[in-house]
Amino acid sequence: MFGFEEKEELYKEISEVASDALGYFEENIGPYPFGQLDIILDELGMEYPGIVTASSIYGSGPVNPDALKNMVIHELSHQWFYGVISNDPFNDAWLDEGLASFSTSLYLFSSENQEVPYDSMDKQLEQLESIPVNLPLDKYDENMSSYTYGKSGTMLWKLFEQRGGIKEAEKFLKTYYNYYQYKEIDTKEFVRFTKHYFNLEDESFFKEWLTLE
Ligand SMILES: [Zn+2]
Repeated sequence: MFGFEEKEELYKEISEVASDALGYFEENIGPYPFGQLDIILDELGMEYPGIVTASSIYGSGPVNPDALKNMVIHELSHQWFYGVISNDPFNDAWLDEGLASFSTSLYLFSSENQEVPYDSMDKQLEQLESIPVNLPLDKYDENMSSYTYGKSGTMLWKLFEQRGGIKEAEKFLKTYYNYYQYKEIDTKEFVRFTKHYFNLEDESFFKEWLTLE
């Protein structure tokens, strides 16, 4: 891990969290594909194969230490969702951003022994419009991330609300990884897979948040 400020204590904490999250993702999703992982702090949050950068988001300065830890975990989870399972980042951005948001919260709930906060997720969904999460990026205005990152991650959790919660979410991601590692996925294929995985009768669950044409 590389940092450019005099923040040894924070850097140590972040490298411990990152190492723990890496172990969790390897155990519950699939193997990390490289022999090394570099984390560079003091940069815009971004994922690259084998490298993640974190510190700030577009249009803001450096984030606070807790948000920085979450950002590192988010960028780290892209090693699986973007790095190993690929998708079109313009037309189907939700597939790596939503899965990264989802797996970041999965790690946090699991490592902190926390219940999944479905009630506050419902409240969060009420604040949003019925805009799908899988539009091409130029179809959103400045609230794009509320949909491609936020609503998509939350709707993924809704899948598990009546279907086994955290444990089932881990199993789902592992199966998903096994099927799609080193392949490219799109919305249609995600829906096909998930519908089959849960034996859903139709696509009504997805129609609330994805456009399926
Ligand atoms: Zn991301």
